[in-house]
Amino acid sequence: MTPFQFDLLVVGGGSGGVRAARMAAQRGARVGLVEVGALGGTCVNVGCIPKKLYSYAAHYAEAFAEAAGYGWQVGQPTFDWNLLKTRRAAEITRLNGVYRQLLVGAGVQLVPGWATLVDARTVQVGTQQFSAAHILLATGGTPTAPAVPGGEYAVVSNAMFDLDPFPQRLLVVGGGYIACEFASIFNGLGAQVTQVYRGTQVLRGFDDDVRHFLAQEVRKAGVDLRLGTDVTAITRQADGLQVQLASGDTQMVDQVLYAIGRVPNVQGLGLDTVGIAQGKDGAIEVNAQYQTSVPSIYALGDVTARLQLTPVALGEAMALVAHLFGPKEGKAARQMDYALVPTAVFTHPNIGTVGLSEAAARQQFGKVTTYRSEFKALKHTLSGSTERTLMKLVVDDATDRVVGLHMVGADAGEVVQGFAVAMKAGATKAVFDSTIGIHPTAAEEFVTMREPIPPTI
Ligand code: FAD
Ligand code: NDP
Repeated sequence: MTPFQFDLLVVGGGSGGVRAARMAAQRGARVGLVEVGALGGTCVNVGCIPKKLYSYAAHYAEAFAEAAGYGWQVGQPTFDWNLLKTRRAAEITRLNGVYRQLLVGAGVQLVPGWATLVDARTVQVGTQQFSAAHILLATGGTPTAPAVPGGEYAVVSNAMFDLDPFPQRLLVVGGGYIACEFASIFNGLGAQVTQVYRGTQVLRGFDDDVRHFLAQEVRKAGVDLRLGTDVTAITRQADGLQVQLASGDTQMVDQVLYAIGRVPNVQGLGLDTVGIAQGKDGAIEVNAQYQTSVPSIYALGDVTARLQLTPVALGEAMALVAHLFGPKEGKAARQMDYALVPTAVFTHPNIGTVGLSEAAARQQFGKVTTYRSEFKALKHTLSGSTERTLMKLVVDDATDRVVGLHMVGADAGEVVQGFAVAMKAGATKAVFDSTIGIHPTAAEEFVTMREPIPPTI
């Protein structure tokens, strides 16, 4: 028993903080968790979950349009934005309650409020101070604010879920995950969407083939994607927001979404008081054990600005708890492995990817062979949709291992998750070739691609 009130005091009740608190308490540690907002953090309240619910809502537009090809007469569907918002809010409130139950049930003491570090083992919340042997900072991130004249008229992703009224004309700035997802979602929900990205192609860092293919598909679906330009000013006019572009064009819209990245939540946390080392944009620096430059204080998840994904924050939390309090009974100590982290972008169509882009693989391995298949999914032979699917494999010639696997198409995230397991297990192209497909599926293409394609870069 330490002389402190808690063995672990967690600051931030998001993906990483909740998982760490619950796991540590289950191992018998005395755990406190400070949260200033709603339990569940970004993912549950203004991220993955409401975003995916809205993506499902948007997909119905395609489903109604495609049903006629299969003999259904649907009539003219109408969309009730207020009803969707209400139903989403109720589901998120339910999830907040589930998180509370999980934490309380595990014996975690919940402390509502804003936490500030007082010293290496003390945290202040309101008028109270709490001492802990270990402090974990899992305070997440926050959207970067626009810095253009009139930027105050724009919103960031947090506001998108409760917009009132529904934006019939939406301009999205950025070319990353959030910009691309929201452009697709609001396009599907019926808005006229313009997406403006300063670079030559959206989703920098993804496979170039995937980026170009996605751009082509979202344009076909109705998104007015403008590349190589940026917003220079926003002004309020009687009939909406006038957006001035560097290209010289202007756009009149109802709402402007800025999705230009996120910065770590470190303001007002008292990092300076205790001397915690910080990197770019204030991100908390940690070693392999998530320990900051102050040995009793740890940090993980988005506040460390590495891979900003919920499963990564969860994996880090479990690795940290194993490090501090030992592994779960009968289990080996869990390590977080940052190699081959699969990811999906919930654009319409979805992107699913694991491993390296062709360009990165070529740089890392020298000689690689690529396989590519592009086709109209069976469903669309009758649906009338012109949507196409892309699948791509990147293979290291020296070992025959599949080092990159990419898909743009329906449910790409669902498809790629299973292939990520195969790749973690070191599957070679020969193993893929010897795997029997499931017919008729799109996923079977990944095990039937036989003819390499010339390098695309
Ligand atoms: P968070 O979940 O952000 O939690 C941090 C918590 O700390 C917050 O609740 C905050 O209120 C609290 N806090 C901050 N400072 C203090 C303080 N001083 N005192 C008390 N409390 C404090 N990832 C995916 O894997 N898949 C997706 O589909 C996906 N979609 C996303 C969509 C959007 C629109 C966004 C914005 C993000 C999305 N992400 C997605 C990313 C994912 O949400 C984050 O990577 C994840 O939530 C990070 O978890 P975290 O625990 O580090 O921080
Ligand atoms: P990203 O880092 O993914 O993308 C930021 C985008 O904004 C890039 O296209 C970037 O361009 C552009 N940009 C940056 N600064 C400016 C600027 N000053 N002016 C104009 N454009 C700019 O950030 P997001 O905000 O989209 O998302 C944050 C993170 O959240 C993601 O990286 C991801 O980790 C996570 N997330 C995950 C999701 C998922 O798993 N499906 C969904 C949503 C978010 P450039 O490339 O030229 O720098």
